[in-house]
Amino acid sequence: MDSEEIFNAIFNEKNFFMIAGPCAVESEEQIVSAARFLRSRGVMILRGGAYKPRTSPDTFQGLGEEGLRMLAKAREVTGMLVVTEVMDPEHIPIVSRYADILQIGSRNCQNFPLLRAAGSTGMPVLIKRGFGNTVSEFLHAASYVSKQKNDRIILVERGIRTFETSMRFTLDVAAVPVIREQVPYPILVDPSHPAGKSKYVRPLAMAGVGAGADGLMIEVHPSPGDALSDAEQQLDFQEFETLQNDVGRMLSAMGRNVLGIAESP
Ligand code: PEP
Ligand code: MN
Repeated sequence: MDSEEIFNAIFNEKNFFMIAGPCAVESEEQIVSAARFLRSRGVMILRGGAYKPRTSPDTFQGLGEEGLRMLAKAREVTGMLVVTEVMDPEHIPIVSRYADILQIGSRNCQNFPLLRAAGSTGMPVLIKRGFGNTVSEFLHAASYVSKQKNDRIILVERGIRTFETSMRFTLDVAAVPVIREQVPYPILVDPSHPAGKSKYVRPLAMAGVGAGADGLMIEVHPSPGDALSDAEQQLDFQEFETLQNDVGRMLSAMGRNVLGIAESP
């Protein structure tokens, strides 16, 4: 499938779809190995950060353009589409040369100049809900993109901050049906960031699918213990397969069309 066919399947035909890959691009070997595995499992869109929004400036900040080149290599090898985060309007020209979809992270959900700049490229824009934002604020963020005459928007619920600290963030599954009735954009669930730990990813993914999400965005790493960011929450290949099998059964019970699952590379 070429990129327009994939975009048609997700934006017009409303197929359920997966976005998966490591938190950050760490090496060519790491990203290509993740991409090959995921593509063999029918996943069509690869994630991986090259510019990472880290809480501490003393931790791994991403490989920048070098990381973008590695993502492009993974795309060339597998034919997957690539989504990666932009943190600054200045990054947009370079990121748009390598990526297929621009990601606006949770911390930038209300960075209005960035939303406008991303929208004005005409590329699909994936927006993650700010962890301190209401659904209404999240939808206003999407309006900043759509006002640029760009309605290829993907929304991602990734957990919000509440009084509950038993997981990293509180996944707001209620946002899924609420957003669904208000805007026509695909609404995905990212179970990885609210889980914070790999053992919680599968139950949160199932909850998201049950709530009617149009897809999942999941962190998968060839060797999660060695990851340079979010090591505890990334799934290894075996864990991803288990999750995908369970989600697949749920989706068929729900009668949903799925992008990619039955396809071989
Ligand atoms: C990510 O998905 O790479 C990420 C940094 O997540 P979030 O913006 O949701 O924290
Ligand atoms: Mn991460």
